[in-house]
Amino acid sequence: MQSQDLVKLAEEFGSPLYVYDAEKIKSQYNRLSNAFSKVPRLRINYAVKALSNIAVLQLLKTIGSNLDTVSIQEVKLGLYAGFNPEQIIYTPNGVSFEEIEEAANLGVQINIDNLSILEHFGTKHPKIPVCIRINPHVMAGGNSNISVGHIDSKFGISIHQMPHILRIVENTKMHINGIHMHTGSDILDIEVFLYAAEILFEAANNFKELDFLDFGSGFKVPYNKGDIETNIEELGKKLTKRFLAFETSYGRELTLAFEPGKFLVSEAGYFLAKVNVVKQTTSTVFAGIDSGFNHLIRPMLYGSQHYIENISNPKGKERFYTVVGYICETDTFANNRRIAEIKEGDLLCFRNAGAYCFSMSSNYNSRYKPAEVLWKDGKGILIRTRETFEDLLKNQIAL
Ligand SMILES: *Cc1c(COP(=O)(O)O)cnc(C)c1O
Repeated sequence: MQSQDLVKLAEEFGSPLYVYDAEKIKSQYNRLSNAFSKVPRLRINYAVKALSNIAVLQLLKTIGSNLDTVSIQEVKLGLYAGFNPEQIIYTPNGVSFEEIEEAANLGVQINIDNLSILEHFGTKHPKIPVCIRINPHVMAGGNSNISVGHIDSKFGISIHQMPHILRIVENTKMHINGIHMHTGSDILDIEVFLYAAEILFEAANNFKELDFLDFGSGFKVPYNKGDIETNIEELGKKLTKRFLAFETSYGRELTLAFEPGKFLVSEAGYFLAKVNVVKQTTSTVFAGIDSGFNHLIRPMLYGSQHYIENISNPKGKERFYTVVGYICETDTFANNRRIAEIKEGDLLCFRNAGAYCFSMSSNYNSRYKPAEVLWKDGKGILIRTRETFEDLLKNQIAL
């Protein structure tokens, strides 16, 4: 996508605006499947929570993706978008037993990450095949908010509890058809990932009738120039070799599954916002935009560094700006960033705005959620209208 295209889309659909480049989603999907092209049975389950617009789900369906869901509502969105139940895996954490049963009744693959639920489910529904989410206790990356495999994590059943898992399976005669892990969002070191994979293989050997091994996600994408990203091609080579050897020793055809969210949609997304005010204080030049952490919370929540470009003045002389929102509390997108000279009315473009951006947005300060546009075949298609005052009132009951 070119900046001129983005400027035109903001003129047509207004600001703030989310734009997703369909080509980029496709090329990331192909990049991942090509890296594992030697695996006869590869399955990519797109993690819906990253960006859950049904048009994006439909696009992913047309390119061959399956879905990874974490709530019954995501399951329903996936079915609504046209996926078959067999194309959906449901990996909840801390949900009610009734919600898991509801998902099972819809025919989607259940993935259980808790011993008590496993025992209860196996007792009540011994015929429904279940996948088990293992916590291999491997730290991938340094941020404990996004590394979910470590010892204090609430996710998964500890690998050290395997004897108890096996006891439950034996007692209930339930059928385990998959083993799963998802160690977090930052695979920087492929060796660490391969180490966790070994733990999964070892766990898998405890079960005789597995159909798939799901290695979760954690593929890192670059947010800024010079950022390290996961070397998918190298991971593909190394894990393929190891997986095929495991499959042979296991003696049964297995599917290798991944469930990327960020990898597929992060770089496809652009967030466009207009500068309402340029405010010079005694120490700082603030650029205040017509948005805030109600629309893009990652910088405030995770300290994420989204690259910001002034697409109204791309060739302008760079100056230092602190980019802030219009929310009535501290609402900073970037501190002292070099950005091409900003005038009031200019359009700023935030990169990597595909994953966990719109899907984490809210109506805080009673603001409308932005519109979303899919850029496909050189055209912008509106896939979500901007909210209106009626949306704010919806479900509210006046006295
Ligand atoms: C969030 C999530 C993912 C996707 O993670 P990314 O870092 O976006 O690739 C995959 N699997 C599960 C179970 C998740 O909760």
